[in-house]
Amino acid sequence: MQQCPFCKIASKEIPADIVYEDESTIAFLDANPSAPGHTLVIPKRHIPTILDADNETLGKIFETVKTVTEMIKKALQPDGFSIGINQGQVSGQRVPHLHIHIIPRFKGDKGAMVQMVVRNPPKESLVVIKEKIRAQKEEEVPEYILEEIKEKTKEIKNVGEKLEKYEKEEEKKEYKGKKIKDKEEDELEEYEKILRQMMIPK
Ligand code: AMP
Ligand code: ZN
Repeated sequence: MQQCPFCKIASKEIPADIVYEDESTIAFLDANPSAPGHTLVIPKRHIPTILDADNETLGKIFETVKTVTEMIKKALQPDGFSIGINQGQVSGQRVPHLHIHIIPRFKGDKGAMVQMVVRNPPKESLVVIKEKIRAQKEEEVPEYILEEIKEKTKEIKNVGEKLEKYEKEEEKKEYKGKKIKDKEEDELEEYEKILRQMMIPK
């Protein structure tokens, strides 16, 4: 994306304090840090949110998050980390290019827990919410059923192939039969012709 600041950082069009980089991800210090070592990890490719990313890319991003967290831990010795994503404008996402905030936490930094960013307790019961969410996940088919389906599919394919072969042979037989019949009819016709000629008085 041409106007995206993080794409520009990834392509080195604009500078950044890069602390780590590999083939598909890059990590740089946040220009407006909430704490010493506040770092952003991004995919090099423009991906707006985790919902737009394939699992392989997400895996790569989170590997980098781990690597960089370890690096910061060794370098700055924080007491912990807050690691998070703002997804969507309502949550505070200002740059529409997926980025994971790694914020080192120090005792007495007066920060809060990530779950404190909002106070909007649900009106429905947890059970209702749980069922609504669970209903969205396609049931996973157990491995042994997948194996059974595979076996049955193979059997059906074999039977199908046998049937096809049988039908072809039958077709061939029918064709041969027809040929013999045609030949017999032609010969008969020929005899009749000869007979007729013989019977015609000269
Ligand atoms: P978010 O609100 O989750 O979209 O966070 C975007 C973050 O990116 C903010 O914390 C900004 O300080 C940071 N940021 C924006 N532009 C740059 C930049 N060019 N270099 C480094 N950090 C940036
Ligand atoms: Zn981008």
